Amino acid sequence: MSDNRGMTRRKAMGLGVAAVGSVAAYDILAGPARALAITGPGTTAGIGYFARFGVTEKLIQGTLGEALSSGGDFADVFFQHQVANTYLLEDGAVNRAFADVSLGVGVRVVKGDQTGYGFTEDLTPEGLRLASKTAAAIATGPSRPAPVSFHATGGLPARYAVKTRWEDVRPETKLPLLRSVNEKTMGADPRVRKVRVYFVDESGAMLLADSNGQIVEDLQPMTIMGLTCIAEQDGKREENAYNVAARDDISYYSQERIDRVVRECVKNTMILFEATPAPAGEMPVVLAAGSSGILLHEAIGHGMEADFNRKNVSIYSDKIGKLIAKPFVNIVDEGTQENARGAINVDDEGTVAGKTMLVQDGVLTTYLHDKISAKHYGVSPTGNGRRESYQYAPMPRMRSTYMLPGPHKKDEIIASVKKGIYCTRFTNGQVQIGAGDFTFYVKNGFLIEDGKLTRPIKDVNIIGNGPKVLELVDMVSDDLAIDEGGWTCGKNGQSVPVSQGLPTVRVASITVGGSTGKS
Ligand SMILES: [Zn+2]
Repeated sequence: MSDNRGMTRRKAMGLGVAAVGSVAAYDILAGPARALAITGPGTTAGIGYFARFGVTEKLIQGTLGEALSSGGDFADVFFQHQVANTYLLEDGAVNRAFADVSLGVGVRVVKGDQTGYGFTEDLTPEGLRLASKTAAAIATGPSRPAPVSFHATGGLPARYAVKTRWEDVRPETKLPLLRSVNEKTMGADPRVRKVRVYFVDESGAMLLADSNGQIVEDLQPMTIMGLTCIAEQDGKREENAYNVAARDDISYYSQERIDRVVRECVKNTMILFEATPAPAGEMPVVLAAGSSGILLHEAIGHGMEADFNRKNVSIYSDKIGKLIAKPFVNIVDEGTQENARGAINVDDEGTVAGKTMLVQDGVLTTYLHDKISAKHYGVSPTGNGRRESYQYAPMPRMRSTYMLPGPHKKDEIIASVKKGIYCTRFTNGQVQIGAGDFTFYVKNGFLIEDGKLTRPIKDVNIIGNGPKVLELVDMVSDDLAIDEGGWTCGKNGQSVPVSQGLPTVRVASITVGGSTGKS
């Protein structure tokens, strides 16, 4: 998982701020979109949004008919439209802006354990027929009929209802936001030398229809703002970053939030001037509430995805119903938190996303399932079938993953450590997904000596195995914080937005690698 890979995978379609208002992003939506009633998530019935692209029940029926023409067990069709605008500010000016528009459809055919997949940007009946034929090639048997009628998935939640559509917010409204972050950061400390701000807004829409006759549409907005601060003191340079992200509209950027982004970024940069390397060796490690959840996600969460277990490559493959952590450890993966980056109303297979208890009272209760793994294990899908885009088949993925509050207090946890470290911010780590062997790089933290936080530390590696670390979690505080950052999870070449969080947690022992310099 990393910060904000999402923006770099997008292809630049226009350069310069002036171009933003006139690129395809606005042109496409200025047409039929204006004439149609837009239905928000939770109220969409059948084909609403995608009607503007000529998507009809007849088209979907023909597509599924072709998909099942070689006898697949199951087929689905996934339409997606995304319009994203990116703005970058450096050296006091917004000097780069671009828009990216993607529109396409993917057809999946499942036969036993096999998946066939075809995708295209051509939404004509012929384009869809060719994509379906590609997907159908996985099966070899007599054709099966497409559904004769379709039903809209009812009762869809509205976890990120679109109040102001991003396409209705002009650059003139967004650019002052970036400039004010720049000015506040430059003014926050005389040591600040350079500021970078980026801003992304995205309007996303998906439609999923399957061979059981289900149709569901969802509008999925997203926005990210990131700040990088570079400071200089006595000829030494330090750099740090902070970002926030949500499925939300322009109202997300309150004065309070902007001020926090600036304050956190500047504080985390300046403390690096005082920070020193940490001692190396095995020691207790206290993970701060919030962004330390990256460790939970990477080193433990991936091991609970059912595809790794089905293939026996996860350490959790034979652990359902068994104690894998202390009885006060409870871990959740859910899509239900309103406006969270990891929130979804429905997954990319059409399953309404709820709350899944992965670990209850220390016992592993379920894996994270898509439809394929749920069928394999004989359970219901958990709403974790997700994909990066119409170009990919879905697989089990996390949404918002966190540990529930425990019986201890933060102060009590820190006071319990004679000599150890307190980790407050991580940058990228490396994890062997499934087995869970990890190396994480601690960007900010403190030494704990005789139960007190003493000097700041930086540039420290911690090394371990996720499932072992989970067994060694021996204190959990009551201060759960879901991180507000723009986390993006990568798996098998696919990126999806996620959220994560943690209360303050003590791990009895982790290998601290000492200072390794910047990696
Ligand atoms: Zn991940």
